[in-house]
Amino acid sequence: MPLAKLTTIGTGGPARAFAKPASLAELEQALAWAAERGLAVATVGLGSNLLAADQGVDALVLRLAGELANVGTGEGTLTAGGGATNAVCLHAARSAGLGGLEFACAIPGTAGGGVWMNAGAYGSDWSEILVHARVVAAAGAGWLTPAELGLSYRHSDLRHGQVVAEVEYRLTPRPQEEIKATVAELIARRKATQPTNKRTFGSVFKNPDHELGAGRMLEVCGLKGHRIGGAVISPMHANFIENAGGATTADALALMAEARRRAGEQFGVDLRHEVELLGEIELDE
Ligand SMILES: Cc1cc2nc3c(=O)[nH]c(=O)nc-3n(C[C@H](O)[C@H](O)[C@H](O)COP(=O)(O)OP(=O)(O)OC[C@H]3O[C@@H](n4cnc5c(N)ncnc54)[C@H](O)[C@@H]3O)c2cc1C
Repeated sequence: MPLAKLTTIGTGGPARAFAKPASLAELEQALAWAAERGLAVATVGLGSNLLAADQGVDALVLRLAGELANVGTGEGTLTAGGGATNAVCLHAARSAGLGGLEFACAIPGTAGGGVWMNAGAYGSDWSEILVHARVVAAAGAGWLTPAELGLSYRHSDLRHGQVVAEVEYRLTPRPQEEIKATVAELIARRKATQPTNKRTFGSVFKNPDHELGAGRMLEVCGLKGHRIGGAVISPMHANFIENAGGATTADALALMAEARRRAGEQFGVDLRHEVELLGEIELDE
């Protein structure tokens, strides 16, 4: 399976092996299969924060399906498989009159991907709604709290081979109409400022500790519209890289290197990438 088919930017070479476990038992079987062969494991959600190596990924790549993508609601809680999309979770929360997940309406990922990098927007993030996550690895499984997962700004302590199989969110009662209105407003704000209709992987760099965000900084550097191969720095928001047709991961990495160099020269800031890298990718830290 080419990673280009599993990532929103649409780049990346083949995975050594690919499986779609649809239950905890199937997930455990897949992890045991990889462990017997000494093969690394990487889980992919919607691939909306991923840049995978052009030469491929020497690992068993998993995409959770079936029971591992189901969603259910209870009294003030929502439980979801790690592969459940934020859109489906938000829809279920709204139907049950549960608020708190609205901030995730413009984050096109899954529950597992949200935990992995403590995704967030509009002043909220996963650490604020997550009660605990069931993390499964070849060595065993357990439920971990946000503190045990080490959630901080766009970070968790999770490592490849640890699969977020299930999550429980704590939500609060809120009228459906209010949830709908908040979501509509947040999505309209996004569409006005970010290239939501292009092939991207979301924010390229984390916002540095500086009065300017990464996007504004790269805009000041004159990088909007800068193109290498098939990848272009979004003319709409400079902290996004678009696949303008035929882009490779190498094109995106070259743009990232140029952006870091220019931000370093002009602002003395060392930008850190927010996008997750999969496979053998050389990037100066
Ligand atoms: C248009 C656009 C807007 C975006 N806006 C935001 C935003 O506002 N805020 C924000 O934080 N992000 C944003 N993103 C980035 C991205 O959507 C989030 O980071 C999202 O949480 C990634 O989820 P995913 O399921 O797609 O993960 P993937 O991109 O598939 O994977 C990301 C990482 O998580 C790991 N992973 C995924 N699923 C699991 C699992 N079940 N178990 C263990 N590890 C797993 C992967 O191995 C990888 O390391 C945006 C992206 C796009 C394209």
